[in-house]
Order: sequence, then structure tokens, then C-alpha cells
Amino acid sequence: MKIQHFTFNPFQENTYIVYNEEKEAMIIDPGCYSEKEESILNEFIVSNILKVKLLVNTHLHIDHCFGNAFVERTYHVKAFANREDEFLLKDMAGQAKIFRIPLRHAASSLENYIHENDKFALGSEIFEAFQIPGHSPGSVVLYNAKSGCVFVGDVLFQGSIGRSDLQKGNYQSLIEGIREKLLTLPDETVVYCGHGPTTTIGHEKANNPFI
Ligand SMILES: [Zn+2]
Repeated sequence: MKIQHFTFNPFQENTYIVYNEEKEAMIIDPGCYSEKEESILNEFIVSNILKVKLLVNTHLHIDHCFGNAFVERTYHVKAFANREDEFLLKDMAGQAKIFRIPLRHAASSLENYIHENDKFALGSEIFEAFQIPGHSPGSVVLYNAKSGCVFVGDVLFQGSIGRSDLQKGNYQSLIEGIREKLLTLPDETVVYCGHGPTTTIGHEKANNPFI
């Protein structure tokens, strides 16, 4: 399994493309905003001859789904996300207004919902979803036990945790979810964050002052 990472949009959000030997790909949190960022993403997919099979959002804050409409239209996939965050997608325009960022595409609708312990398969690679609300009410993380990695969106960062002061945020749920569902993973699990550098569960257990 290979993981390609891009940092997109004014929020410096991390977009991931996960793909396998069969060239099947999953896009996690497409944050591509400008036309240039869309072509950077597309050029990677085209030059590696990838077939985009899955689009998954860890949550639906605007910086994590700026590129949803582009990805859905270009690769003929529909996003998976948690229903608790659907209100954010429906109010993309409102989110954009708060940050004074004009939207380039009309927001897409959500048709595929992620539930606790749902599994996404990319060939033999299995990603299990765990709900960890608190940064947003519908935040999920995607854990791949075989490859020893977890995509956490804005739940956990190197040396920090997600904000819980945004709409429908909840500090208690966030910290409990991190402790129960992330810190119980093997120490060597690689953590791919929605912003900033990659880390490991062991590193965060030893160094993160917020958990
Ligand atoms: Zn967020």
C-alpha cells in the first residue's frame, strides 16, 4: 500500500491518496481548492494510472471537502462521511462566508454514510471507521491494522488535539474518544493527521501534553 500526501488550500490541510498494487485508490479529505491544486491531484492520479474507487471524508469542515465536488465529478465516485456532519456540507456556503473564501463549486450532497466499525476495502487493505466526535460531531478515523496506520482528520495532531470550540464541538467526547479508540492502538501505528506532520501513537502517548 502506498500513501501520497498533499497539503492544500489556505488552511494547509492534508489530502491523502492511498493506493495499492492494482492501482486502486482511495482519496481521503480532498482539500484541493484552486484550479492549480485540482490539477496537482489529477496529474498524480493520471500519471500513476490510478483508478479512484473511494472518496472518504474524516469530517466535513470546509478545508477537508473543498475538493469533494471536483473529485466526485472527475472520478465518478460519491463521498462517504458521517451523517452527524451532513449539516456542515449543506452549509458549505455558510462555512465559506465565515472564512471569506468564495466557493468555486456548488457543494455536493451526501449519499453514503459512515457508521461505527464500517469497513472500507481497497483490494486486501481494510480500513475500519471509528467515530470520535468532539472536533466535529461526525468526525471519524480510518484504521488499517494490517498496514499499521490510522487517518485521523482533525482529531489528533503531532503534539496537539483538534479544536472542540467549533460548531457542535465537545471536548469531553473528543478526549474520551482519543483515549479509548486511538491510544489503545499499537504504539507503532502511524498517524496521518489532517494538518501538520505525521506521527505515531507511541510518540503522542509519550509527548502530547493534551492527552
Ligand atoms: Zn476540522
